[in-house]
Amino acid sequence: MKSQPVWQVKFYGVRGSTPVCEKGFQLFGGNTTCIYTDYLLNDRSKMIVVFDAGTGIRALGKDIINRKIPNTENIFLVFTHFHWDHIQGLPFFDPAYNPKQKISVFSPLKSMKVSRLKNIFEVQMQKEYFPVQLDKMGAEFQFFNTEEYKTHFKIEEHIQFTYRPHNHPGGAFSYRMEANGRSVVICTDLEHGESVDEKVVEFCRDADLLIHDAQYTDEELKSHRGWGHSSFSQAVEVAKLAHVKHLIFTHHDPDHDDEFLQEIESQYQRSFPNCAVAKEGMEMMV
Ligand SMILES: [Zn+2]
Ligand SMILES: [Zn+2]
Repeated sequence: MKSQPVWQVKFYGVRGSTPVCEKGFQLFGGNTTCIYTDYLLNDRSKMIVVFDAGTGIRALGKDIINRKIPNTENIFLVFTHFHWDHIQGLPFFDPAYNPKQKISVFSPLKSMKVSRLKNIFEVQMQKEYFPVQLDKMGAEFQFFNTEEYKTHFKIEEHIQFTYRPHNHPGGAFSYRMEANGRSVVICTDLEHGESVDEKVVEFCRDADLLIHDAQYTDEELKSHRGWGHSSFSQAVEVAKLAHVKHLIFTHHDPDHDDEFLQEIESQYQRSFPNCAVAKEGMEMMV
């Protein structure tokens, strides 16, 4: 039996590859990947899970600092992988400079040990690239030893957090969160084969919300094989095969402007009415 919605989801960055700021890109937004989710544990605390730290995380940081989002003492920051468009915003995430802020960083990529995971961000912020080094930022960072958690773990008692590797240059992970019979799946930076990956379909099975990579049209995908991304119609196919309730396209190509994405949205809503193109600032309850 389905309960009340339990997850809140907000898109802070929906662009793939590189941020864009030109006129004609403001409706869907130009910031790179950052998806905020939370789950209300009780009236005083919530569990916050943020997926990726693309440039969109800067605006999330402002919302946290300005208390537009309450109860944010602990942030669980999860990485699908570490390509630029997924880490670029971290140096500009204001809560990372607050000594009272706890940030738990998680990525199972290559079963990373704490030292290796931490090193990714130490290198990103070494002095040749950025003036403030990771250990000088201020927040209390904790890096998970993911060798201990191969496929899943429980957050609190009733939240199931599952993940699996999918096809992307350098590797990347899909995530699934489940609580009270409600599930959210994030599959971005994912390239299917000649047909959609059956294991991905299985992973998305019966999800209430699927957020899926849709960087290309089918035509564009032909000339971008090996770049690590999906097409709109592949995302729809996964959603249909997996009986997903709601599909959101994300990781928009930096050359896809508002007019193009609006057209795409109405085109695909004809075959899968419960789909939409992710927009910066868009909020959903699941
Ligand atoms: Zn990406
Ligand atoms: Zn990538």
